[in-house]
Amino acid sequence: MPDSIATPPLETRLFIGGEFVPAIDGGTIEVLNPHDNSVLANVSEARAVDIDRAVAAARKAFPIWSKMSPSDRGRLIYKLADAIEADRDRLALIETLDTGHPIRDTHNLDILRTVQTFRYFGGIADKVEGSVKPVDAGFLNYVMRVPVGVVGLVVPWNFPLMFTSWKMGPALAAGNTLVLKQAELTPLSTLRVAELAAEVGFPPGVINIVPGYGHIAGQYLAEHDDVDKIAFTGSTATGRKIVQASAGNLKRVQLELGGKGANIVFDDANLTAAVNGAAFAIFHNQGQACIAGSRLILHERIADRFLSDFIALAKSIRVGNPTDPNTEMGPLTSRQHQERVLSYCKIAEEEGGEILLGGKIPDDPALANGCYVLPTVVRAGLDHRVCKEEVFGPFVSVTIFKDEDDIAAMANATPYGLGGGLWTNDLNRAHRVAGAMQTGMVWINCYKRFHPGSPFGGVKDSGYGREMGFETMHEYTEAKSVWVNVDANLPAFYKR
Ligand code: NAD
Repeated sequence: MPDSIATPPLETRLFIGGEFVPAIDGGTIEVLNPHDNSVLANVSEARAVDIDRAVAAARKAFPIWSKMSPSDRGRLIYKLADAIEADRDRLALIETLDTGHPIRDTHNLDILRTVQTFRYFGGIADKVEGSVKPVDAGFLNYVMRVPVGVVGLVVPWNFPLMFTSWKMGPALAAGNTLVLKQAELTPLSTLRVAELAAEVGFPPGVINIVPGYGHIAGQYLAEHDDVDKIAFTGSTATGRKIVQASAGNLKRVQLELGGKGANIVFDDANLTAAVNGAAFAIFHNQGQACIAGSRLILHERIADRFLSDFIALAKSIRVGNPTDPNTEMGPLTSRQHQERVLSYCKIAEEEGGEILLGGKIPDDPALANGCYVLPTVVRAGLDHRVCKEEVFGPFVSVTIFKDEDDIAAMANATPYGLGGGLWTNDLNRAHRVAGAMQTGMVWINCYKRFHPGSPFGGVKDSGYGREMGFETMHEYTEAKSVWVNVDANLPAFYKR
């Protein structure tokens, strides 16, 4: 594992038209290490003129990339996956320093999942088939899936590298060219991906990477008249702005927004598995996951036993410097976000909740300058704000239920509908409750599973459209219907 990301020097410029270039007005973004708030890098800040350049480069490259044979596109995506895999140690360290995500996770999960996702979409590039429709006699009608065009990709700060692959993989496989804006807090790993993409030979302009602020560069990209689609992951509030910004040229929009996952434990569940699964569901990546299991809903008969084991496990989680291979939970990704999560601990108390564990920063002086929050468990009512709003931290609410008849209403009592889980050994109940949950994803006796082959996305305030799976290829292509008159003797409506 390298001990520094400075050698070789980290690329910090914009990637436009196949070259690394500074921002036109020379502006930069200071990127901080959330472990101690030291400066990691100063990255070029894209503004409107830079976004214009990036969109123009993507537009110019579109005929080349979209007409390249799909298997050749797939081969390049595979090469990128191989390059990322070979760069695993350096990329994992970059991602850990930039996000606060523990190195054991970036090294063993994020990078491998990123590679797996690029490989999946490399493989799909030459399998996006059209169809022939049984229409009226005398006509042949075939439907092709054609690329959307120039796509804008806006990714958040919680899993920058992985979300880059979730969007870039299908966009490229389908034949689109792209302009990707990563979050201003965590731009580094995606710039490294840009370097690797250049090395493996992507044609100039196919991939453009423009770090910048959301309200400036992101907003401008979403409004841009020459962008045909925006795929966005982030908060519901920003998702709404993107929909409005897209109205000018009616660009396609795909939204993967927040969540408030219910995690229901029935009295017949395997409690050891449920306790471990529930801890992973909320504490992995410091709870900064849209699919986090942030609302525990426990049957009254097992609630005390479950909570005692769950709290013992949460207490034992090793919180610390994320570059330490033993660390299980690192800091939150920014000071602002740390303050936001801590403010919810206060709100929980004000609205009558009870903090059973955590709710504060660690005592360890070595962590005092970082954005740390201890694992937090709060007993709360489902009508409380902390059970409805996305806290996006290591913060789980606990509510007790008695009757399965109430469970669907309880699980669905938030504006969100991304993911949710349930733990039971009763097969009928498992399917019954899964069917009643208003979410895009349900996990039975597991939590937070995903795979590039399975569609990922939500309903309600969690957005629309699906990432991954074959389903996402329909998000990145248009259906083009072609009619052929194959009967010269067809009756004409107007015969002269
Ligand atoms: P955000 O929605 O502001 O940021 C996500 C991305 O959108 C970033 O790249 C940002 O630069 C960009 N962005 C911001 N404003 C924009 C605009 N007007 N137009 C286009 N792009 C814009 O999220 P945040 O404020 O950084 O985080 C706050 C909350 O968002 C979190 O607490 C969480 O609830 C949610 N969130 C969800 C996810 C997820 O995976 N679904 C990821 C990150 C954040």
